Amino acid sequence: DGVRELLADRIHDVADYPRPGVMFKDITPLLADAEALCVLTDVLAGIAREHGATKIVGLEARGFILGAPTAVRAGVGFVPVRKAGKLPGATLSQAYDLEYGSARIEVHAEGLTEGDRVLVVDDVLATGGTAEAAVQLLRRTGAEVVGLAVLLELGFLEGRGRVERALAGAPLDALLAV
Ligand code: IMP
Repeated sequence: DGVRELLADRIHDVADYPRPGVMFKDITPLLADAEALCVLTDVLAGIAREHGATKIVGLEARGFILGAPTAVRAGVGFVPVRKAGKLPGATLSQAYDLEYGSARIEVHAEGLTEGDRVLVVDDVLATGGTAEAAVQLLRRTGAEVVGLAVLLELGFLEGRGRVERALAGAPLDALLAV
């Protein structure tokens, strides 16, 4: 429909970035467009309300850009999940495998508590490794993960399966898929 087209037209393909053979989806044209940014935020906030979210969690770094305005619009707080070593307080930490080697993400232990209902927001779902690790990490805070919402799912990378397993019945909403 119209919303999909508005968003999709403002995500640009960049060939061979960050490595040869990779087609990178660049969302900065969408962010720069006032109407598209507003519509995207409204749709994400609608999903947050639908799921009764009490917190939005954004995944570093583009999940911050989408997550914070979503939280404001939904009337709830925002909690960042960051790459290791960036958060000053006591953290919970989760390791996950990358194509070469491994990575670690963290959340403030006091950022979420039992009773919180968390909607995780990110820009792109690729292999699903990041989202899977985030869901596992967040569950260890005692909070309930009520969903994952992404702007764009790269279906050919088949990340959905592993993320749905981690979500254990909570919905995965992708506004666009290629
Ligand atoms: P995954 O762990 O392979 O699913 O990768 C997801 C993470 O990498 C997300 O946090 C995305 O921001 C980022 N990412 C992967 N591919 C793209 C892309 O084509 N455009 C923008 N971000 C991407």
